[in-house]
Amino acid sequence: MIHFEKSQPAPTCLAVESKKSAGNYKCGDVLSRLQADFHSKCYICEMRNPTSINVEHFVPHEGDKHLKFSWDNLFWSCAHCNNTKLAKFKNLLNCTVAEDSVESRLHLKFKPFPFERVEVEATDSDPRTLQTQQLLDEAYNGTTKLKMMESANIRTALLLDIRDFQDLLFFYFDFKPHGNKTDLLNRIKGHLSRGSSFAGVKRWIIRDNAKLFEALGEFLDD
Ligand SMILES: [Zn+2]
Repeated sequence: MIHFEKSQPAPTCLAVESKKSAGNYKCGDVLSRLQADFHSKCYICEMRNPTSINVEHFVPHEGDKHLKFSWDNLFWSCAHCNNTKLAKFKNLLNCTVAEDSVESRLHLKFKPFPFERVEVEATDSDPRTLQTQQLLDEAYNGTTKLKMMESANIRTALLLDIRDFQDLLFFYFDFKPHGNKTDLLNRIKGHLSRGSSFAGVKRWIIRDNAKLFEALGEFLDD
């Protein structure tokens, strides 16, 4: 999980829709603004361009008009993660609040081989960190039989992405000279940018390795 900056001010249509008896929070440019702010990624699993997209209420609105139409409460998620979260998780770290430091508080690890799980560790014992850890674990690894299959699809996309990232690192550090160094570095930077799919996992690969961190740590600062 990584931090996403929510653009301001809120789309003007939200205030108008909130006054209607059957107002629609997906009004005006809400969808395109959310897509841009979340870099087309599900904020929970970080899959880019998922087939099924949900506009999610970070704090379940449960009929509360303010929560239903509050711009700060609207998030971009895939259907799998939204269905995993439902109203079960109500005390999560907020990835749109910089002070919540979601990236450093949730340590993600994934070995790039078939059938591996995503390991999610909380780096402190704050109840919100622990609950977010549980949500990410369920999203990446599944709960019910069907959700385990969906999670396996997410991990397959993750595996393909990590393998590409791994190849670039391998070539860049000249273990197998291949391609132009500047081009390789730009592609590595692309993988480490917030907008990249599964950036949270890839950025931890760099943090977890002293040599890689020394060479590429500056690209985690954006
Ligand atoms: Zn997701």
